[in-house]
Amino acid sequence: MPIVKSISAIPESLTGFSEDELEGLLRVMGEPGYRARQVRQWIYHGLAESFNEMSDLPLALRERLAKEARLHSLTNMREVTGKDSTVKTAFRLAGGNVVEASLMSYRRDSGAPRYTACISTQVGCAIGCPFCATGQQGFERNLTTGEIVDQVLHFARCLRKVTGENERSPTGRSLSNIVFMGMGEPLANYDAVWKAIEILNSPGGFGLGARNLTISTAGLVPQIKRLAGEKLQVGLAVSLHASENRLRNRLVPINRKYPLEELIPACREYSRVSGRRPSFEYVLFRGINDSLAQARSLAELLRGMTCHVNLIPANATGDASFRPPPRESIVAFALELKRLGINATVRQARGQDIDAGCGQLRRRIPAGEKTRHRQDKMMGE
Ligand code: SAH
Ligand code: SF4
Repeated sequence: MPIVKSISAIPESLTGFSEDELEGLLRVMGEPGYRARQVRQWIYHGLAESFNEMSDLPLALRERLAKEARLHSLTNMREVTGKDSTVKTAFRLAGGNVVEASLMSYRRDSGAPRYTACISTQVGCAIGCPFCATGQQGFERNLTTGEIVDQVLHFARCLRKVTGENERSPTGRSLSNIVFMGMGEPLANYDAVWKAIEILNSPGGFGLGARNLTISTAGLVPQIKRLAGEKLQVGLAVSLHASENRLRNRLVPINRKYPLEELIPACREYSRVSGRRPSFEYVLFRGINDSLAQARSLAELLRGMTCHVNLIPANATGDASFRPPPRESIVAFALELKRLGINATVRQARGQDIDAGCGQLRRRIPAGEKTRHRQDKMMGE
């Protein structure tokens, strides 16, 4: 825990503070220990948008916090809703960078809508997968914990406005899942992402169960091993896309550093140590990785591992070499995997009409607008 001497020196918003750090901060301000609990209650359960709303704090403290601390770190720049109700939001960060996140809705068997937020962890990405809009933008910087947590809080507030759900109760909230599958490589920003996960999981924080949080990675082997040793067992999704090194080197360039013969054993180890079943994302590209022989080679690679394969037809980006296969090839690929005993599901691409593919919304914002404050209409308003 950092030693907090003065709050004006801290650039991070309060949403990036652990429980202990917030307590330390308020103690420095001469406040009793229970204040941290009150403030956290307002941030994560009350979903407060300003210190002024924190009505059980003394007015002088609210005013001091408003002057000296930051409650949130994002400005909502643009929000679009697709035909399938996927909402995609572009946020401006302090310093002018832009990231995006999306909110997808699903209907449970009971008919009640549930929502999954897809969150960014970096501005851009250094891994540079050629089919990915984010990868084509290069790497700018890591997000802070507060910037990661704030994306989730943004969607929780949107949903509260739409559903009118009880804002003080995390249980029964319709925002039930968070996937770190937005812009960037979460495991390349491990510490900030892990701290965000602890805040999102903590009962005094956002209060989501670890099994409702999933990290997606291009395959950073040392970090996968580190993840296996963590106390909180979050879900792991590995972006595989190819079952042999030559093709994977091209599609997911980090494979040159961590080839399949290191990655797959690390995933087996993760599954054994954590008791959780990893999933493998396999984006299908027409004529590149969609043949039946490749389905057989994938089944062979994963043989004996308790896992799940998500087959995702490619989202077309600017590069014409990466197109989705025809429907029949996708179905045939899935059936071949199933025939060979591999659990596989074809995932529907979400939000395609609004460029919901990784990094695409941000790319469409003209350069001048990226640094301008612009509060578009919020969903449902
Ligand atoms: N960097 C991490 C998480 C962010 S990318 C990772 O690569 O896993 C999240 C997912 O979106 C990855 O599975 C990635 O391969 C996929 N993705 C990126 N561009 C895509 C596209 N054009 N079509 C379909 N999926 C894409
Ligand atoms: Fe980075 Fe993931 Fe995009 Fe690859 S797919 S460039 S790892 S964000």
